[in-house]
Amino acid sequence: ITVYVPRDSTALALGAEQVAAAIAQQAAQRGISINLVRNGSRGMFWLEPLVEVATAAGRIGYGPVESEDVAALFDADFLNGGQHRLALGMVEEIPYLKKQERLTFARVGITDPLSLPDYLAHEGYAGLRRALTMPSAALVQEVLDSGLRGRGGAAFPTGIKWKTVAATVAAQKYIVCNADEGDSGTFSDRMVMEDDPFMLIEGMTIAALAVGATRGYIYVRSEYPHAIAALNQAIATANSANYLGDNILSSASSFHLEVRKGAGAYICGEETALLESLEGKRGVVRAKPPLPAIEGLFGKPTVINNVISLASVPIILARGAAFYKNYGMGRSLGTLPMQLAGNIRRGGLVEKAFGVTLRELLQDFGGGTASGKPIRAVQVGGPLGPYLPPSLFDTKLDYEAMAAVGGMLGHGGIVVFDDSVDMAKQARYAMEFCAVESCGKCTPCRIGSTRGVEVIDKIVAGQPQQIKLLRDLCDTMVNGSLCAMGSMTPLPVLSALDHFPEDFGKGELGQA
Ligand code: SF4
Repeated sequence: ITVYVPRDSTALALGAEQVAAAIAQQAAQRGISINLVRNGSRGMFWLEPLVEVATAAGRIGYGPVESEDVAALFDADFLNGGQHRLALGMVEEIPYLKKQERLTFARVGITDPLSLPDYLAHEGYAGLRRALTMPSAALVQEVLDSGLRGRGGAAFPTGIKWKTVAATVAAQKYIVCNADEGDSGTFSDRMVMEDDPFMLIEGMTIAALAVGATRGYIYVRSEYPHAIAALNQAIATANSANYLGDNILSSASSFHLEVRKGAGAYICGEETALLESLEGKRGVVRAKPPLPAIEGLFGKPTVINNVISLASVPIILARGAAFYKNYGMGRSLGTLPMQLAGNIRRGGLVEKAFGVTLRELLQDFGGGTASGKPIRAVQVGGPLGPYLPPSLFDTKLDYEAMAAVGGMLGHGGIVVFDDSVDMAKQARYAMEFCAVESCGKCTPCRIGSTRGVEVIDKIVAGQPQQIKLLRDLCDTMVNGSLCAMGSMTPLPVLSALDHFPEDFGKGELGQA
């Protein structure tokens, strides 16, 4: 009998290690032989630790399980699908999971993330196998045709970056994976790295074949120790395993991949600051041009893509560009793994084709707020994303549709606030965050953010005439900053002012 207990950080934080130990102990005590597999998380965090049992009909779930529940689960014969108050039925039939369109996350939560045989048994390396039979130009074309756009937030077509690097002549080229997932409420990169690391390795290897790179780096934020450990172990396994057969192994194995750990700066998620950090320098934004595709890491042509962009490549190669672009709408093709966080009843990962509405995500999947109070605002796209009021919840999640209402999709993080939120405080927080995280290279961001905090304090202390000054300051930051940190910090501030004006000018925030 196979029993699954997740090894994902979320499950571990909720006691999965103790649950796994209790299951092993109870099985031994009762003389029952079980195969305990540490899988990834299904991304239904309110059910973690979610214990699954393989039956002839499919996997049956129990959750959230605490170690104290384990003896009772054995008493209820859960190994044979017995009834218990934590029984959830067939995991695949849970509506939250069933209604998703999981392409990139198809294996996540199902397999043992560190088992290469498990990966291979679930369509793993199908994309790389096909890639190895194709000329590099055809590989680039396939990614271009798929319509894949950067999932880190900028939504720049991935294939165009690859094409530029492929066309640039150099003795050394690099593939860099941006795994500095710093946006508030986001965890999809982490889940890929912890719960399906071979997929990222496969995507980066395909990128290397496409552009002629021989070295790759995964730049992971230091707050992700489990992701770093999983990646290192998976890379070692991939390097030592002759999984593709002797004849084609040599071409794929000439790609050398390493993990690098960040040091905790939000700005190192900006691609040029990341490259500086990777070179061992302070994370300061570089002026563009030159583009990293032409002069990137150590001055060499570099593909720099987000985890989800690279992790989407294997399925595009395995199933073809036409299959992938069949999902989505307009110019937003494929799927986006969205992350529900903040004050939400059912937080977790929802991979859907572009075009789903915010309301569907917040109500059908999320089930409203955790507090049970009405949702007042959501912030989509990280700390630099604008706050959206309920009147905009029918907006389709598509890069262009969101931009049309002044919103953004970013990396797909959705943070929910109920009606107790003070939007002036949130606006102040945006400026404060920018003041702390600014790399300091340009004045509008470095100085503007500090002045922004002061001006908001004056407004809420009873000087509404300062609102004009705040808007002027935001205008200067938007137009005068070198990178998105400074130019987008005004978005949450202005959206708070525009959609929630009643929160400005009546509190004692300045004295708080
Ligand atoms: Fe650095 Fe801010 Fe200027 Fe970006 S906008 S380059 S983070 S100072």
